[in-house]
Amino acid sequence: MKNDIERKIKGNGVAPGIAVGPAFIIEQSGVPVPEYDIPSAQVENELKRLHSAIDKVQQHLAQLRQKARDLPVGAEDMTLLLDAYKGMLSGSRLVRGVEEIIAKQRINAEAAIQKQIGKLKADFAAMDDPYLAARADDVGEVGARLLRSLLQQNYNPFADAPEGCVILAEEITPADAALLDPGRVVGFATVLGGAEGHAAIIARALGLPAISGVGALTHGIKTGDTVVIDGYKGEIVIRPDAETLQRVRQEIQRKKQEDKRLKALRDIPALTVDNKLIALQANMELPRDLDAVRDSGAAGVGLLRTEFMFMNRATLPDEEEQYQALRKMIEALNGLPLTVRTLDIGGEKLASALGGMSEECANPALGLRAIRLGLKEPKILETQLTAILRASMHGPVRILIPMVSSVSQMTEVRAHLLQVERRLHRRGIKPKGLPPLGAMIEIPSAALVADALAKVCDFFSIGSNDLTQYTLAIDRGDDSVANLYDPYHPAVLRLIQFTVAAAWRANIPVALCGEIAGDPRATPLLLGLGLRELSMSPLRLPAVKSEIMQIALPQASDFAEQVMSKINQHEILDLLQKRITAKEKRV
Ligand code: PEP
Ligand code: MG
Repeated sequence: MKNDIERKIKGNGVAPGIAVGPAFIIEQSGVPVPEYDIPSAQVENELKRLHSAIDKVQQHLAQLRQKARDLPVGAEDMTLLLDAYKGMLSGSRLVRGVEEIIAKQRINAEAAIQKQIGKLKADFAAMDDPYLAARADDVGEVGARLLRSLLQQNYNPFADAPEGCVILAEEITPADAALLDPGRVVGFATVLGGAEGHAAIIARALGLPAISGVGALTHGIKTGDTVVIDGYKGEIVIRPDAETLQRVRQEIQRKKQEDKRLKALRDIPALTVDNKLIALQANMELPRDLDAVRDSGAAGVGLLRTEFMFMNRATLPDEEEQYQALRKMIEALNGLPLTVRTLDIGGEKLASALGGMSEECANPALGLRAIRLGLKEPKILETQLTAILRASMHGPVRILIPMVSSVSQMTEVRAHLLQVERRLHRRGIKPKGLPPLGAMIEIPSAALVADALAKVCDFFSIGSNDLTQYTLAIDRGDDSVANLYDPYHPAVLRLIQFTVAAAWRANIPVALCGEIAGDPRATPLLLGLGLRELSMSPLRLPAVKSEIMQIALPQASDFAEQVMSKINQHEILDLLQKRITAKEKRV
């Protein structure tokens, strides 16, 4: 009976909204395993794949171990279990056996793991000892984790999720998040993951409430139990009682009404009180966001994250495939501009198709990612630039380069772009001129040399998510430092101010496309700093528009001046919050 009692657990609310539905717990096991022969020359490589998977699982276990401390009960048992898993991954019978099978039988790592698990399980079972039988399950669990890590590119963890469910999982990687179907899933909660990780961004783009950093997530709950997920409060209610359910349903209803009110703003221009038009554009993660972009009344796409074309697959997309995908989007936008960001893979956004090119470094967020990877592997960059140039013949396009840290990178990119154009001309394909080429300003060094960058860029787009991460040295995807992640920190705001001023001096357009563009609390500040172009999740656009329609630019400048005079981040947040609250009171 005790099991039926309502229980609440806390985490970090990373995407707003509230929903109720049956829990669907993502298990680590049940991964379908391919088997194929490998030539002897490939053995070394296969062993490398195995060890890179082992390293990843070790890291994952270490993160889970940290979280296990939050468990209300069983923290010690869980820690011991995770330590046992860790032990099974270094020099154990499991690992040695898998290495031997790969080397001797010359088969792929996944199949070798499967074989060795089968053998160990059979050995344990033969001992007829309940303690050892439990160890057989542990070996199975560790093996399944290894398989999942190796098979990331073609495994859909949500394939069996029932309609209307709330997903509960240890982690949702950006590649997993791209597979979430908002028609079936109403929200998700994870043990790992920070507020500005890409799973959180995708959740916000899909309008799904999401919570991360929940230590005790799958403890005392089973698939099918009713749960409420409250992304505003960062709270999960397990087996809610009738009173809670009624309150939640009222809240969902109220939210629907509010959405309806905001939707009515769709075709109204984003004019300030003093009649200045602000360009509100949409961020797109996946082609399926197109409907939301159109419904939002966006003036175009200010950021197309092209990573989706490279995720959940084993090989890189060729020029034709990329061209067709872009062309479809451009045609669907019907004359509205599309800002295509070149591949920003690496860091937390890993693509198996790159074969580990970007992930084998100790510190991926600071490693070979985004344009650094593009300039090191020019074929990847040039293929994408070729596809973009061809697509630009079907409608207005801008090219945006991620993770720029110096002027020379932009001059190098431009040289590649010119080279690509020449090659296209030789193929008889003649786009009408080159699309504008811009830099993401998301690394402090780029912001600090914005004056020089403005001379080699046609536009800027400020990425406040990474700018916050790199300015404050806070991993945006790590829940254990999520409380320190603050895009309104004065240091970040000063870099934004500096960048906008440099763009104005050079007379080039400047946009902001990080998550704060979609936070109505920040709207007066961003306008006051001189931004006239904001790009955000399409679902956030109406609320920002509503804010714009209530401010005059001189008033926004005064407010920005007031905010920039503060050195304490709490005072800044207070000012942003109070302005909203004061206005709500006036209405
Ligand atoms: C950013 O860093 O602010 C940004 C918009 O890019 P992403 O979130 O894709 O890194
Ligand atoms: Mg970024």
